[in-house]
Amino acid sequence: MNKSRLVKVRNLTIIPVQIMKNQFHTRREFLKTSTLAATSLPFVSALAARAQTAAPEKKLGFALAGLGSLSTYQIAPALPKTHFCKLTGIITGTPAKAERWKAQYNIPDKNIYDYGNMEKMADNPDIDVVYVVTPNGLHAEHTIKAAKAGKHVLCEKPMEVSPEKCRQMIDACKSANRMLAVGYRLHFEPNHLECVRLGREKVFGNMNLIQAEYGFRIGDPKQWRLNRALSGGGPLMDVGIYALQAARYLSGEEPVSVSAIATNNDPVKFKDIEESIAWQLKFPGGIIASCGTTYNFSGLDRFRVFADRGWFELAPAYGYGGIQGRRSDGKWTSFPPMDHFAAEMDDFAQCILNNQPTKVPGEEGLRDLKIMMAIYEAAQSGKTISLT
Ligand code: NAD
Repeated sequence: MNKSRLVKVRNLTIIPVQIMKNQFHTRREFLKTSTLAATSLPFVSALAARAQTAAPEKKLGFALAGLGSLSTYQIAPALPKTHFCKLTGIITGTPAKAERWKAQYNIPDKNIYDYGNMEKMADNPDIDVVYVVTPNGLHAEHTIKAAKAGKHVLCEKPMEVSPEKCRQMIDACKSANRMLAVGYRLHFEPNHLECVRLGREKVFGNMNLIQAEYGFRIGDPKQWRLNRALSGGGPLMDVGIYALQAARYLSGEEPVSVSAIATNNDPVKFKDIEESIAWQLKFPGGIIASCGTTYNFSGLDRFRVFADRGWFELAPAYGYGGIQGRRSDGKWTSFPPMDHFAAEMDDFAQCILNNQPTKVPGEEGLRDLKIMMAIYEAAQSGKTISLT
């Protein structure tokens, strides 16, 4: 194995399922290596601790709620790449999909549910976790049903369409004594973790400005993403949330105020939601973030952090693969590709197995919802909104 890469992996102490599989001959060899790790990031240390204590032979049963594009093309293919998870059930409102998935993944009839009978999962020991992958405005309903059935919940981003719904989800999981995590896959991605390290260790001095943007041109005008009741908003809720997340984890702080402007050049297609929105965040330590998102053009996929003595960036930054880093001193080292969803699910499974907190809890999803509501308020009112 390439020695410099090994050092990089040690420094990051991530739980790289793919790296474990591809780069280390045995799990024992990986764990021995990661034991040597030293890091300045507390949340990353917690991950390393999990890797050393989890029981590799135990796999948790995952049921996917919502068998759309993300479940079909990303999550189901990622499950066999995990160490601690297996696909054991599905929840779908479409009988034809149930038949297809049953045949493809060998799912027994007793593990197939629809949205109306999720409470019956309470009697099913094959299912430990429900992964909620339905439209945003249904996340609370499906999360609460899963928690009441005694299942842990991994919920896709954005957590819901309002802070109130997020609170209901948190409360339901607390009452049921079940864990709740949000599908923020980039918290497990080595390029993002490296940028967090560059900021925290002040490799280029104090950070001053973060620019972060993610957007694309949306197709089908009939899809739920353009329907506010199901989406909660436009590109901000869908992909702008990645830019917001980046600003928060790169700065390591919570914003104190926000200003924003939105545009809508196609009021027919975007009658319900914003078409594009740009926003600025002020952080207490003096960092400013300038962020943007759109449903009207493609190729917007990056962040750059400007610090006292240079800059670092990812471009593209947020997709499932092909993430590319750069530093102003030319010293960026590439990381091997890995499956974001496998890493995210394995981390959640280890949290459950070892009774340890997730670094992407419901409270993290709630924080984003509160800020996104303030971004909309700022765009609508033209005023700077305080977040303190
Ligand atoms: P999709 O439209 O492809 O799938 C949604 C699924 O929900 C479909 O199977 C649909 O049948 C089902 N559904 C149940 N009730 C529905 C209703 N009333 N209206 C419409 N659909 C209904 O969407 P997707 O792209 O798979 O997104 C699902 C979730 O995953 C969203 O919350 C989205 O934000 C999130 N997502 C996350 C990522 C990521 O990178 N983490 C990427 C894409 C989507």
